[in-house]
Amino acid sequence: MKQQTIVTLDLEGVLVPEIWIAFAEKTGIDELKLTTRDIPDYDELMKGRLSILNKNSLKLADIQAVISMLTPLEGAKAFLDELRSITQVVILSDTFQEFAKPLMKQLDWPTIFCHDLEINEEGSVINYRLRQPDQKRKAVASFRGLNYHVIAAGDSYNDTTMLGEADKGFLFRSPDNVKNEFPQFKSAEEYVDLMRMIRSELIV
Ligand SMILES: [Mg+2]
Repeated sequence: MKQQTIVTLDLEGVLVPEIWIAFAEKTGIDELKLTTRDIPDYDELMKGRLSILNKNSLKLADIQAVISMLTPLEGAKAFLDELRSITQVVILSDTFQEFAKPLMKQLDWPTIFCHDLEINEEGSVINYRLRQPDQKRKAVASFRGLNYHVIAAGDSYNDTTMLGEADKGFLFRSPDNVKNEFPQFKSAEEYVDLMRMIRSELIV
């Protein structure tokens, strides 16, 4: 059976800045700079982030206003446009729909699979909801089940299971520790190089 290609891309660090870190810088709330490297338990980290948002009376609309001041990484839009003109692309991210929205608008609304937030009547963020655990890897496994040849790219630990599940996985702008731990994935620092690597794996 003839296969077609689908490319799955991580969002933060690949197309847009790390949202929480950029958000912390814009708002000046340093406590929001903590990441999974500081607090390995994701649930504890997220609960902490949500309580900081509420402590600072930041409602979803305020948060989205700040996020809309962020811009995609330089060259990201052109890279994504070119990629979408030659193959199918789905962004697989562990961010939340409500946070991604202002950035997706700037990228012309590509398809994104991610998590979402629980918002109360006053517009405050009261909880987060994972769409499903290990969703990046499961999405790739499902696309392969639909007879797609999957090429995946991401920058961090939370991408390595999807890279491993894909027919071909690439690291993009990864920190050295990730590159050293996962030497089986070729890595690129520039969009032009990632594009060339993806093009060489496309089924046409
Ligand atoms: Mg990332």
